[in-house]
Amino acid sequence: MYGEVNLRNWVERDARRVWHGFTQMAAYSNTEPLVVDRAEGRYLIDIDGRRYLDAISSLWVNTLGHRVPELDQALIEQTAKVAHSTMLGNGNTAVIELAEALAPLVPVDDPHFLFASDGASAVEQALKIAFQYWINHGRSERRRFLALGGAYHGDTTGALSAGDGGFGTDIFAPLEFPVLRTPGLADPNWADLTIEAIESHSAELAAVIVEPLVQGAGGILIGKASDFRRVAQACQRFEILLICDEVATGFGRTGALFASDLCEIRPDLLCLGKGLTGGYLPMSATVASDRVYSAFLGRDLGPQTLYHGHSYGGNALAAAVAKRHLELITQPAILANVEARSSQLGQLLEAQIAGSESVRSIRIQGLMAGVELIGGDQGGLARRVCAESVRRGVLLRPLGEVIVIMPPLTINAAEIKLIVEVLEAALAHVTGLIAL
Ligand code: PMP
Repeated sequence: MYGEVNLRNWVERDARRVWHGFTQMAAYSNTEPLVVDRAEGRYLIDIDGRRYLDAISSLWVNTLGHRVPELDQALIEQTAKVAHSTMLGNGNTAVIELAEALAPLVPVDDPHFLFASDGASAVEQALKIAFQYWINHGRSERRRFLALGGAYHGDTTGALSAGDGGFGTDIFAPLEFPVLRTPGLADPNWADLTIEAIESHSAELAAVIVEPLVQGAGGILIGKASDFRRVAQACQRFEILLICDEVATGFGRTGALFASDLCEIRPDLLCLGKGLTGGYLPMSATVASDRVYSAFLGRDLGPQTLYHGHSYGGNALAAAVAKRHLELITQPAILANVEARSSQLGQLLEAQIAGSESVRSIRIQGLMAGVELIGGDQGGLARRVCAESVRRGVLLRPLGEVIVIMPPLTINAAEIKLIVEVLEAALAHVTGLIAL
């Protein structure tokens, strides 16, 4: 039914009307973009019927594969009840059930959930809550944020302020608020330097924001759990709020349900997104400890109230899927698979990729892996290798010169083997062309 001509047609229609994020649209149709029509399990299928193993979990959101029967069913059942009703001043049974199911699992004491739609919104909410927390306590001098080098927290202006730029976003710097920035996980002394900064700036700090254990968009940089523990203890010592952004690391990605669990830390504010609905629907959440939440209690319409909320925050369809997803992802077989496939992936990358002259280093935690290439003067090597991998049926996408491998958590051994084989062949092909 479909053919090359049809595919070109879709790409042209796409380029004419759809504006793609982080994409130069003038070049878009020349980059052989993948136009997805449907999916089966962990494979995306394009309009021409070609299959691609989704080795980036559709930008790190997909946990169990596509078209999971239980999730499809949860969605269908909720459509027969109600798709959406506002959470501003009103409730919804699907959202209440989700919050109750999440409560015993999140690494936050006596948690309260403020739902939104994207990871950036969850971060934005956390920053505003931390800021107002101190105002509500009559301590408005505590208004600065400490964030790490190499951090990425999303693309809204507040989230960009906490992030460390890059990806062409530096142009927005004049719109951002200043933060206290200490080195990120690329610096082995990051925790000591961060703790020093916490000590010397404690009187003015509202909160410290970190991506626990792994800085994702910063290039899959992996830290030591004990370093995060020490930073969390310093926050506690000076009563500074700790915000853990687990938008990327949450829901099994790092080998535990949450990376904060591996670090043995319990943040005051936790940001969730991406995997919350298994990659089905846009839903995120800011989770506040009771200590934080209680600071917002006061008289009706009074100044203690959090004056913030999104139209689609707490969407009922998303909540129903997220609740069913939580039941599936907490089955022990999922995390056991993450552990087994992570060590397999690590071994294969070491055996087949690490020896290449173009590879600088390989990093892996759970099913978050980064292969950093030596880009050369021109740059763009990782992008070309990923494009070649896509041509060979494995969907990969780079972050600068880091090739990111983040497959669904249900990936099997044969598929891990395929990813590494295709990556090896793509790397040899592209570097061979360069050498010519
Ligand atoms: N925080 C982290 C740690 C992320 O990795 C991301 C997205 N990659 C975000 C926030 C932003 O999430 P979203 O793209 O859903 O806004």
